[in-house]
Amino acid sequence: MSTDCIFCEIVRGELPSFKVYEDERTLAFLDIRPVNIGHTLVIPKAHSHNIFDIAPEDWTAVAGTARKVAIAIEKAVGCDGINLAMNNREHAGQVVFHPHVHLIPRFKGDGIKLMPQRAYHEGEAEPIAQKIRAAL
Ligand code: 5GP
Ligand code: ZN
Repeated sequence: MSTDCIFCEIVRGELPSFKVYEDERTLAFLDIRPVNIGHTLVIPKAHSHNIFDIAPEDWTAVAGTARKVAIAIEKAVGCDGINLAMNNREHAGQVVFHPHVHLIPRFKGDGIKLMPQRAYHEGEAEPIAQKIRAAL
């Protein structure tokens, strides 16, 4: 637990939230500023910062909760799809430094574009794949 982390405050019940699911390791609650209605955050109860330092057991638990809650959101809001997103560190857009997976309900024609993409240049992909394999 961290004393200056708002998501730890939500876990402790010191900050109000609209909780939708809770188990021993995880908590899911509505994002205060939703992309679409039903936008939910899934977090581990234990404090860490992001994907780089979350305990493997907590990550596994978060993934399980994300799947369970995504299915419930689909039933509850009648969305046409759901994006799972996670921002890790400042330059990836992370604002709250307690790991959280966004479950974002999507509706046909909602016009939300999450990530611009581009093609690899000739010869660019294999060296990158090689570097990642070597780092594992
Ligand atoms: P990040 O950019 O770190 O991935 O996203 C943090 C998310 O937390 C944002 O979508 C923001 O709306 C949400 N958020 C920030 N403060 C609070 C809060 O006090 N309560 C809730 N429920 N969500 C919050
Ligand atoms: Zn925390």
